[in-house]
Amino acid sequence: MGERIDFRDGHWVVPDHPIIPFIEGDGTGPDIWRAARRVFDAAVAKSARGKRRVEWLEVLAGEKAFKETGSWLPDATLDSIRAHRVAIKGPLTTPVGGGIRSLNVTLRQLLDLYACIRPVRYFEGVPSPMREPQRLDVVIFRENIEDVYSGVEYRAGSGEADAVIAFLMERFGAKIRPGSAIGIKPMSKFGSQRLVVKAIQYALRAGRRSVTLVHKGNIMKFTEGGFREWGYEIAKEKFAERTVPESEAGGGKGDGGRVIMKDRITDAMFAQLVLRPDEYSVIAAPNLNGDLLSDAAAAQVGGLGLAPGGNVGDGYAVFEATHGTAPKYAGLDKVNPGSVILSGAMMFEELGWADVAEAIVRGLGGAIRSRRVTYDLARQMPGATEVSTSQFAEGIIEHV
Ligand code: NAD
Repeated sequence: MGERIDFRDGHWVVPDHPIIPFIEGDGTGPDIWRAARRVFDAAVAKSARGKRRVEWLEVLAGEKAFKETGSWLPDATLDSIRAHRVAIKGPLTTPVGGGIRSLNVTLRQLLDLYACIRPVRYFEGVPSPMREPQRLDVVIFRENIEDVYSGVEYRAGSGEADAVIAFLMERFGAKIRPGSAIGIKPMSKFGSQRLVVKAIQYALRAGRRSVTLVHKGNIMKFTEGGFREWGYEIAKEKFAERTVPESEAGGGKGDGGRVIMKDRITDAMFAQLVLRPDEYSVIAAPNLNGDLLSDAAAAQVGGLGLAPGGNVGDGYAVFEATHGTAPKYAGLDKVNPGSVILSGAMMFEELGWADVAEAIVRGLGGAIRSRRVTYDLARQMPGATEVSTSQFAEGIIEHV
């Protein structure tokens, strides 16, 4: 019998047989999920020698939910994820025409999943546009609630936009071209600091060397600049003994194992990730910067096909594939299950089952090195053999 995961005093309490809800997803989702689940169960069994086991609980969303319940996102699914705290999902179709709630947005708001976490690292053998892709190994913490996600926008020429412009001009003497569109970008100290805290906690736990705050504070002094200032401030306030600002760091062993706090202007950061990737480890960024950086970084190590993601709050987390449903391959046992599999590794790491996470990553690395890979990788890897989704999973399990 499985038990629920709990969260007490800021820590996960994970039973040996946790119940974890999953959404298999639409399109290729079922193929991918079937493969991923086998890999997870094998990695857990191997790491825990029968002591631990995950009790997977299917919850419905997307097309399958609509067919069975008439709702794209049944309340029962939301209730179950809330009750069990941690869930994993495959890709879902976004029905064109609107009128339905987006699962991601709903969960993000309902469970206050304020950190979108995207680890980006290279697997030997994966085709990449870089000469030395292995030099990049970062974990990006992107703020997931504020900034453009709680942005207010008004269309050019609308009554709202004109009224805001008039207000700003009359009240504060702002200079704005009449008829402009207006966007407002709210960023709070509270929201910024809790994201930076999560990034620092992760760096400490994972033995990572630095946390870099990425911001455009040279232009947006109070929002993006605020992010930088609040980030340094909370590092000093909460982690005085365990972090050191770059300006005070001695380099080498002089830092006494402390995490170095850095900051970079967004545009410079894009250049740095290409030119000096090994100088960066954990990155904390406001919403839009983090969005852009995550995909750019993933491209450097071979694209989104292997990029995992997780949305994490305090005591709630949902992990997911970052690609879509690839509908034209649905049911063909063809696509790459790597993204969901690595999202599972992230989930186990978050829950404190680091041995399981390592086993999964080792298995995937081994399968790719053996060059028996799914079509997306095979067509770009010289000498590779194309295998199906399920055969690829078997290869991973062999290398676990
Ligand atoms: P997509 O990611 O499904 O496909 C883009 C390209 O990548 C296609 O050529 C596809 O075949 C390929 N691809 C995707 N996943 C792959 C995998 N695992 N292995 C190998 N190749 C893979 O994006 P799209 O075509 O823009 O969107 C299709 C549907 O997915 C839409 O309904 C969209 O709304 C939805 N979507 C969902 C999510 C999500 O649930 N997180 C994210 C993006 C798109």
